[in-house]
Amino acid sequence: MISRLGSLTLLGLVACAADPAPPPVAIARLAPTAPPPVAVPAPVPEPPRPVVAPPPTHVVIISIDGLRPDMMTPALMPRHVQLMAEGTTARHASTILQSDTLPSHAAMLSGVGAAAHGLWWNSYQANRGFIKVPTVFSAARDRGLSTAMIVGKQKLRHIAGPTTVDHFERPSYLCGGVAKRASAYFTEVTPVLLFVLFSDPDEYGHSHGWQSPEYARAAKNSDACLATVLAAIDASPVGPRTLVIVTADHGGHGKVHSDGRSEENSHIPWIARGPGVAAGATIDEPIATVDTAATTLAALGLAPLPHMRGEARLKFAAHAPIP
Ligand SMILES: [Zn+2]
Repeated sequence: MISRLGSLTLLGLVACAADPAPPPVAIARLAPTAPPPVAVPAPVPEPPRPVVAPPPTHVVIISIDGLRPDMMTPALMPRHVQLMAEGTTARHASTILQSDTLPSHAAMLSGVGAAAHGLWWNSYQANRGFIKVPTVFSAARDRGLSTAMIVGKQKLRHIAGPTTVDHFERPSYLCGGVAKRASAYFTEVTPVLLFVLFSDPDEYGHSHGWQSPEYARAAKNSDACLATVLAAIDASPVGPRTLVIVTADHGGHGKVHSDGRSEENSHIPWIARGPGVAAGATIDEPIATVDTAATTLAALGLAPLPHMRGEARLKFAAHAPIP
């Protein structure tokens, strides 16, 4: 048994020895591989940051007595039209019901109507003294800010309380002299708050009628006067930080402007230009002349007057706290 097993084993060995060698296994040599690329996200552009203009340091309010907004055409009042492109225009601004020059301006600069501010008459009467309620001027002076009024009509003095307006001047009735002086004063003194009044459209509206050729000429003159004042502001180092508001105390029709409520009497221009004020924009909501006072205070970082009805119609960057 043992030998048979032995012979079988031997045969097996022989058979094995006769087998051809297995073909070499081809081992594919893999090229050294680079580490998988790390996914780098494409750079995401930062969202554009809103440009926050610094708040205004100065405010100039220019009122054009009796100017109707429909006179502000490129042919007649090109500087006004340019100002509208540079700033924001209210399409529906209106004055108070008592649309006379002194009551309306008192409302514009105090933020309250005639019943509250008490200046219901419309001429200069020295014995009546000064406005009894706070105004944009008194608010500015209370904070140590300089104020001035350069106007074509003496009756505006009733709004210039002696402790509230540093400088009151009436260089001429029509706007040529007013614009020249206002420009020089702004250049030399740079008051923080300046109010300017041009008389021309009102004068020619009363004498020849609103929308008459003479009235149109007065509007054109007012445009040149505005250009003079704006040139001085724009040439000033504080020009870029100055808020300009161009408005009026009332409109008019026929030869009057205060014969009761009418769109022709009450509709006034209202254009604002300055730091943070959108260019070429409009305000479609109705705004009131008392909003001019509130907007002026907001621009200068001053608190609203406690009694005022007007609201700030523009938003400005915050001022540093006033000590
Ligand atoms: Zn007037």
